[in-house]
Amino acid sequence: MPDAAGNPGARNKLKVVSLEHKLGIHGSPTCVMQFDGATGWLVGEPHKGMAAMFTMMNNARLGVGAQGVGLAEAALQKAVAFAVDRVQGVTAEGVPGIIGHAEVRRMLAEARAEVFAARAIAAACAVAIDMANATGDAGWEARAALLTPIAKAYGTDTGCKVADIGVQVHGGMGFIEETGAAQYLRDARITTIYEGTNGIQAMDLVGRKLADGGEAAFRLIGEIETGAKAARDTLPDLAEEVWSAAESLREATEAMLAQAMNDRFAGAVPYLRAFALVLGAGLHLKAALADPARAALARVMIRRLLPDHAALIARSRDGAGDLYALSPEVLAG
Ligand SMILES: Cc1cc2nc3c(=O)[nH]c(=O)nc-3n(C[C@H](O)[C@H](O)[C@H](O)COP(=O)(O)OP(=O)(O)OC[C@H]3O[C@@H](n4cnc5c(N)ncnc54)[C@H](O)[C@@H]3O)c2cc1C
Repeated sequence: MPDAAGNPGARNKLKVVSLEHKLGIHGSPTCVMQFDGATGWLVGEPHKGMAAMFTMMNNARLGVGAQGVGLAEAALQKAVAFAVDRVQGVTAEGVPGIIGHAEVRRMLAEARAEVFAARAIAAACAVAIDMANATGDAGWEARAALLTPIAKAYGTDTGCKVADIGVQVHGGMGFIEETGAAQYLRDARITTIYEGTNGIQAMDLVGRKLADGGEAAFRLIGEIETGAKAARDTLPDLAEEVWSAAESLREATEAMLAQAMNDRFAGAVPYLRAFALVLGAGLHLKAALADPARAALARVMIRRLLPDHAALIARSRDGAGDLYALSPEVLAG
């Protein structure tokens, strides 16, 4: 601790009492700290700690969402390289590597489509934060606040999902440490937990982020619909799918607003994922409109992944009653 002259003085009493043994991120030590008898200093004004903590958390949430996207990207690049090299069976296209098998191609294509969607959502969130900071405009602030839990949860869910696909593409070698495929999965797993679990992100979305009566959400859904209308001449089938999914999301948001808070919470995670799929599909469509070379990937997102939004929305509307009908004893089996 600094002495009166600001020089290093007596040692403060806080100390590390153990190092945690973790599933992943072994390059980042996590410690149990003991603060008994330690001296602390108040940072900032009294009673302003919670607000300061949320400023830090909102930045960290987008950062962790981007961490999920980065892990997904690395895992996918490794999986594609393996799929090009690994020869197994006769492929339909006569391509030697397993990448020539339709099932392997499906895994890689769906993973690439979700990585694009998650990255685009993180970028949209970053743009909203920058615009809010630059302009002080309440609309941008509301957009940033709405997108933060979506960018965090969808980015990190995509990290775990794509790292899992990466292991699967490697087959048995995915389970063997030598390839490095499993490390991405272990490292990605914490991202859905820290900086607020993805369950808490989803509850934030359906609670605080819809507390404006859904204004920010409806405005964003309206923009997805406008984007879909703009694509109607060039990519008619894809535009129609995105437009009708956005309409379903609008109705799901109205239904969410009509529910009691605990019923909202019971459907929060599927609602957040449905929102991310519709938004991600809208961003894919926008990219395909700007660059026709992106249309094939947009097609995978919109035709193969977006349809899940309908089932997710059904789950988001179901309320909490059926869940509480199962007692802890029944759940324990
Ligand atoms: C490796 C690692 C590094 C970390 N680094 C930091 C750090 O640098 N700084 C820091 O401050 N923290 C850090 N954490 C803590 C981390 O942010 C928390 O572990 C995380 O937010 C979850 O909180 P919890 O562990 O208390 O879980 P709990 O709150 O006990 O949650 C357990 C489960 O219950 C659910 N749950 C809890 N409350 C509710 C509720 N009200 N409604 C519905 N569901 C609920 C959760 O979603 C979760 O599924 C770190 C954790 C780890 C493992």
